[in-house]
Amino acid sequence: MSEGADELPDYAPVPKSALGPALNEQGYYVGRVERNLYWITDGTYQSAFLTTSDGVVLLDAPPTIGHNIQRAVDEIAAANGVSNKVTHLIYSHHHADHAGASFLFGRNVVRIGHEETRRLLLRDDDPARPPNEETFQDDRTLQIGGERIELAWHGPNHSPDNILIQLPDHDTLILIDIVNPGWAPVYTSNLSEDIPGYVEAPANALAYSWKHFIGGHLGRLGTREDVMLHQQYMADIGENSRKAIDTVDPTRYFMKYGENTWAAVKGYLDEVTAVAAAPVIEKYTGVLAAADVFTESTTFWVMESVRLDLGYGSQVHP
Ligand SMILES: [Zn+2]
Repeated sequence: MSEGADELPDYAPVPKSALGPALNEQGYYVGRVERNLYWITDGTYQSAFLTTSDGVVLLDAPPTIGHNIQRAVDEIAAANGVSNKVTHLIYSHHHADHAGASFLFGRNVVRIGHEETRRLLLRDDDPARPPNEETFQDDRTLQIGGERIELAWHGPNHSPDNILIQLPDHDTLILIDIVNPGWAPVYTSNLSEDIPGYVEAPANALAYSWKHFIGGHLGRLGTREDVMLHQQYMADIGENSRKAIDTVDPTRYFMKYGENTWAAVKGYLDEVTAVAAAPVIEKYTGVLAAADVFTESTTFWVMESVRLDLGYGSQVHP
């Protein structure tokens, strides 16, 4: 028998502004973003779809939403008297948590994504995520059933292949796993591989004209203000990481641990992380949900990027 829930740590309450609409009995919510563009959430993951005269264009297929994707499509198609047949599936990036229900839509769906997404999906060889046959390198404009979808790749960020999806006639931008509207990023900047690219990504998003933001997590849509707030949060983490690198003294860790170099490194870098994260946690608690849960993890990864990618605090032996 596991220990009681009472033993677990408490965290700051989730601001009401972070939460989205209630889910139905099947565990999803589907709503209109604008015109014939809809979004689906299970409270943690999001995907979107466009109903067109030629069929439905699906944008990501998270396995946690799974069969509820088609249920949501059926519900909207029936209400509007349009086709419920998913004909196209656009991958934001190759990760299984956003693409793992792809196989549900069969072999005849046209899958579209970045060329790197195809390469990574061929590498991963996961039957749940058939590789996209259609690819692009930097930009691609899709015209499907009279609707315009702009795809753009600005370099690696969360993953090497993560793309921006703009729907200019729906005032909407889709950028997955960068900004979680209302919430702090999960572990290590949303488990991002390229931190300079991750930090730059919101500016790339804001360079487009749009009103509605789909970030892939959690229960609600985002606004330009959400993206700017996230940008400020990441900037604060970067600035406080630099300050902590400048001020924390590693000497006592090396004195204590002697030849156990890794123990000293851990003690020192854990302190740098805690010192850098503390003012950010204080500033964003009550503003971004779970700032007190994950800011230290994200700060550790940003602080390492400040050291390793940017060379900050690097000293050459005299
Ligand atoms: Zn991802």
